[in-house]
Amino acid sequence: MSAAPLLSVVIPVYNEEMNIGKLHTRLCNTLNPLEITWEVVYINDGSKDRSMAILRGMAEDDSHVRFIDFSRNFGHQLAITAGIDFAKGEWIVVMDGDGQDPPELLPELLAKAQEGFEVVYARRRKREGENFLKKLTARMFYRLLAKITNIEIPVDTGDFRIIHRKIQRILKQMPEQHKYIRGQISWIGFNQTYLEYDREERMGGTTKFTYSKMIRFALDGISSFSTWPLKVATVTGFAVSAVAFGLIIYSLYQKFFGTTEPGWTSLHISVLFIGGIQLIGIGMLGEYLGRVSDNVKNRPHYIVRDSNIPDAEH
Ligand code: UDP
Ligand code: MG
Repeated sequence: MSAAPLLSVVIPVYNEEMNIGKLHTRLCNTLNPLEITWEVVYINDGSKDRSMAILRGMAEDDSHVRFIDFSRNFGHQLAITAGIDFAKGEWIVVMDGDGQDPPELLPELLAKAQEGFEVVYARRRKREGENFLKKLTARMFYRLLAKITNIEIPVDTGDFRIIHRKIQRILKQMPEQHKYIRGQISWIGFNQTYLEYDREERMGGTTKFTYSKMIRFALDGISSFSTWPLKVATVTGFAVSAVAFGLIIYSLYQKFFGTTEPGWTSLHISVLFIGGIQLIGIGMLGEYLGRVSDNVKNRPHYIVRDSNIPDAEH
């Protein structure tokens, strides 16, 4: 299979030894009957279990299989980035390695894309097997993001989508360190549409996204596409200063024309309050500055230890 395949499937893998075998079978059962040329690019994102050994075995048995083995865990978004970078297909699908994104949807995604869309994302109709808090926080986050950014990032979608080669080319020109790929893809534009599907439960294992990873990811999403938090800090700062100014006049008035009180409580509270607001403002500046400095460093996004794709190794 030397000519470019019609379809590349990109699948990030982090400790998914229980799932990738099954997933690959489902993928083959779906794609082989279509009689199209296809490849699958598995990115081993520093798994600590047997995932990589399984991937090597799969690559030996099935010439559709490409693998990229990272030197350590670089995170979901960078694993996807690497997969997209080295995918050779005219169309590229991104999906999770735990079976939550059903490979059975691929023919429909491809067909929809070929109707004339550069991007077709899969929108989850319902989410199975995820706890209430995760669903609630995800829901709130997507609504908030939609409100405060000026690009349309589709609500309730993950990274499960099909994109055309054109999008791959443009993504390579967007070298931000803190990737929020679904945001970048929306930002790129062209014809985008969606298909609805039911998100399944993980086949095995547990979610790799801890709450702290989710918060980091949410902050990446917001800070890459909006300066809203900076504005909030500024506006709050002004409001608080206005109130403080009023209070200063009042206390001066009290001192000279009224009765002076010990004033301990009010002093205490206001100092704390101002301190808090300042910390919030500084924190938000820090969020952006940190990302600026990361981008200035201009390090490679990920490091490949080994791959059966000729140009992928470092
Ligand atoms: N993943 C990864 N690197 C990470 C975390 C996750 O490559 O640091 C992969 C994981 O193996 C899976 C996909 O990203 O294929 C989605 O992760 P997960 O299912 O844990 O996320 P959730 O579905 O719970 O949001
Ligand atoms: Mg999952």
